[in-house]
Amino acid sequence: MFQVLRIAAVAASFAVLAGSHAASAAPRTDCRTQAINDLQRLSPDGHAIYRAMTDKKQFMVWLTCDDVHLGLSTSVHESVHMLTHERNAFPLIEGGEIRRPHEVSKFFPPREIAKKFDPKDAYVQTYLRPGAASSANDFLYLLDELNAYSHDLNSAVQLVSLQRRDRQADHRDGLAALMSFVMGYV
Ligand SMILES: [Zn+2]
Repeated sequence: MFQVLRIAAVAASFAVLAGSHAASAAPRTDCRTQAINDLQRLSPDGHAIYRAMTDKKQFMVWLTCDDVHLGLSTSVHESVHMLTHERNAFPLIEGGEIRRPHEVSKFFPPREIAKKFDPKDAYVQTYLRPGAASSANDFLYLLDELNAYSHDLNSAVQLVSLQRRDRQADHRDGLAALMSFVMGYV
């Protein structure tokens, strides 16, 4: 469910960017200052990720005014990926970082454990299906997802007062899926 909503949120962001020349499709950006203030007030860990981003616009790409709670947790998630790549290290929730262990890239590809899980599951499709994300080929990127979902859920919990009452996004699903994949792999 969360995955579906995340994909919808990402698609909406790109649709807004793609249609930004049309007056009728002008992106709603009026919520952004408030959203970052809320992030600072409610989720210091998520705000630390925002602060660490050199290009704040990259963080904003994922933030939609339609659902600030989902937008902020997705922004934190995607920004963790960017920081990991930039610094060659996994940023940790309470500060500090761990160097990326590139030696694990020599291990067998995570797609080989896909058969242990329901092939129709959206997370299996996204992260373990051959030809899907880098995590299907390289364990380093499965660890990268595990860390990004850890930040994502942590921020979602801290920001729970911003959650829309009319929507159900289960932020635990992503972290639970990645924990199962990593445990199934090792
Ligand atoms: Zn991710």
